[in-house]
Amino acid sequence: MSDLIADIAVNAPLKQLYSYSVPVELAGLAKVGMRVRVPFGRRTSVGFLLELRSGSIEGLKSVKELLDEQPILNADLLALLRWAAEYYCHPIGQVIRSALPAGLGNDKSTTKILLEPVYRLLSCNIEPRGAKQRELLEFISKHGEMSLSRIRTSFSAPHASLQRLVELGFLSQREQEKNRDPFRQEELPKDTCLTLNSEQSEAVESISSALGASGFKSFLLHGVTGSGKTEVYLRAVEKCLKEKRQALVLVPEIALTPQLVARFRARFEPAGHKLAVLHSGLSDGERYDAWRAINRDEVEIVIGARSAVFAPLQKPGLIIVDEEHESSYKQAEGFRYNARDLALVRGQQQGCPVLLGSATPSFASFYRSEQGDVQRLSLDHRVHAGKMPQVELLDLRESPAEGVLTNELIEALQQTLERREQALLLLNRRGFAPFLLCTDCGTSFHCPNCEITLTFHQRDRLLRCHYCDYAEPPKEECPECCGQNIAPEGAGTERLEEEVAELFPGVRIARMDRDTTSRKGAHQKLVEKMMQGQIDILIGTQMIAKGHDFPGVSTVGVLGADSLLNLPDFRAAERSFSLLTQVAGRAGRLSGGGKVYIQTYYPEHYALTCAADQDYLDFYQQELPFRQELGYPPCGYLANLVFSGNNLAQVKSSADSLADLLVSRAGSVEVLGPSPCPLARLRGKNRLQLLLKSTDRKALRCLRSVVERNKNRVNTGVGLYIDVDPIDMF
Ligand code: ADP
Ligand code: ZN
Repeated sequence: MSDLIADIAVNAPLKQLYSYSVPVELAGLAKVGMRVRVPFGRRTSVGFLLELRSGSIEGLKSVKELLDEQPILNADLLALLRWAAEYYCHPIGQVIRSALPAGLGNDKSTTKILLEPVYRLLSCNIEPRGAKQRELLEFISKHGEMSLSRIRTSFSAPHASLQRLVELGFLSQREQEKNRDPFRQEELPKDTCLTLNSEQSEAVESISSALGASGFKSFLLHGVTGSGKTEVYLRAVEKCLKEKRQALVLVPEIALTPQLVARFRARFEPAGHKLAVLHSGLSDGERYDAWRAINRDEVEIVIGARSAVFAPLQKPGLIIVDEEHESSYKQAEGFRYNARDLALVRGQQQGCPVLLGSATPSFASFYRSEQGDVQRLSLDHRVHAGKMPQVELLDLRESPAEGVLTNELIEALQQTLERREQALLLLNRRGFAPFLLCTDCGTSFHCPNCEITLTFHQRDRLLRCHYCDYAEPPKEECPECCGQNIAPEGAGTERLEEEVAELFPGVRIARMDRDTTSRKGAHQKLVEKMMQGQIDILIGTQMIAKGHDFPGVSTVGVLGADSLLNLPDFRAAERSFSLLTQVAGRAGRLSGGGKVYIQTYYPEHYALTCAADQDYLDFYQQELPFRQELGYPPCGYLANLVFSGNNLAQVKSSADSLADLLVSRAGSVEVLGPSPCPLARLRGKNRLQLLLKSTDRKALRCLRSVVERNKNRVNTGVGLYIDVDPIDMF
């Protein structure tokens, strides 16, 4: 008997599809891309309908229910997801699930209409008493009227103060339907009409002709910091909309790029174009709303972080990946995909141009542009004043620092403050000190779950593990020698903040790191204060190096530059170069020039000298031979197998057994290890890795499928994951 069969990806950690028969009454309704309910094992499960075909249904269980009236995944998106599942060796059901907003991954739909209060300014003749009330009033008066959710993005727990202001007659309050988009009522910057310079025009022209032609083509926009890349993106998107197609813009992290989002909105919303912003701050409901609007074809521009590469646009005409070198495009857990790479795959599949942009392109992208696979567009000059910042490497061997800052840097800060300009200080380590040390016997304090020292946080007087969140109060006495001399060693941003405050009393200092920006809106508030000149010295981790355009900054200092360089990772030099070049690029963006000071023990290292010269090509040429010699990316491909478990012997025997098999089938692939991961213990688990390396991508793919077929060699109690094209191998 020949009948209709549906192949279903069940939402479970299973690689294969399962076949079910489609009952006659559903036959006309079932479509590829719908969610279904099917019996699975002893229960029922939600699945995704991926294929419909006719065949013998004998012995097949049948689909119980269709959960959608229309497909929620279009054919193009499904093709991308299936490609990704295969390439990254991840179960298809879970891949699809991770591409969907929470409300759609299961069978619940959440479309409740919510109400929330909106506050309007009535009077501000007299000043209210409390500081918080005054701040709130000032904030609301700037906009006239504002919803509670928008206020919450800038104030924590504002409700009581708002109630008080209503009682006092400063504000009126009404209820309105909650628009589940927290950025809605934000004030937009004025859109300035710019005349492109010749480099920008050339870049825009190249992209435009690709947009006109349609079909896949990839570009690498390599533009020095402050060269006006965003304006190129905006023009390219404009052209794309003229062609009646949609644009997808990926950014590393929305919360860190408020300025870019604001510029897109300022350019396109007044003209009536619909924009959706997808970011991790959205609630499930907000994300669901945005996703559905995109799926209904109501949105022309989507801006989002990593997972937005799966946004259900019907006809993308352009995909932009801003700051394409950022490692946050790679998901570090579970489905370990790289959104930058998938953007290229999606462009290829859907036949649309892809534009990657960066001041410090990833080695992979630059290599491809050298090979001619990607067309390179260069912006070699800054828009304003044209001058690049001047960088000075301060040799710590010659003039060591008494505290964290050398005398040269202290003097430079002094002068900056006298000129009433702003400074940035980068120290890529949060907390007060990387560890506490018993100065009598040298004992330091380690995380009980991870092979790592605990970081001392002075403000909350805790030793914290930055990997597993373990925390304990510091001990008064050394557990080894009972000595009483326990002192913080090294410096983090907290300690730097303290030192700067002591050196420059009365100066307005702020700190931007994960500890000070964990609250919603906190980061944006710091950026706003910085823009308005309310901060003199901003201290922070690599967060402060990201894409900001702070016109008032003339001086940048970099502390602890060597810690990145010393990491046991073949990308250490690339990462250092990139971070230093990016942070240096924050200096003197408006006034021209600007000065950057980098404190280091290795002033002769090429990662530093090239960053000092802001010379990407020089760095690329010096670094490439190492990669070639060792067959590391971009000159080869990697896949990392990580085994972890409580019992080291079991972990080891699993890894050994799989290693033996792989070596026997390796062909041109090198099998390295098993060896302990750089973090040999993490969250209580012992970890070993097996690194597969090859210059032949196909051979590597074959070997990965050998792994998948032989997962049974791994003991129960031992976890194994495959990280394809790994970025972070800790
Ligand atoms: P990048 O992203 O390359 O570091 P941005 O796109 O942030 O640089 O541009 C830096 C500044 O230069 C922004 O304030 C932008 O508005 C301005 N700008 C860009 N292009 C032009 C132009 N053609 N004329 C004048 N100003 C411009
Ligand atoms: Zn830990």
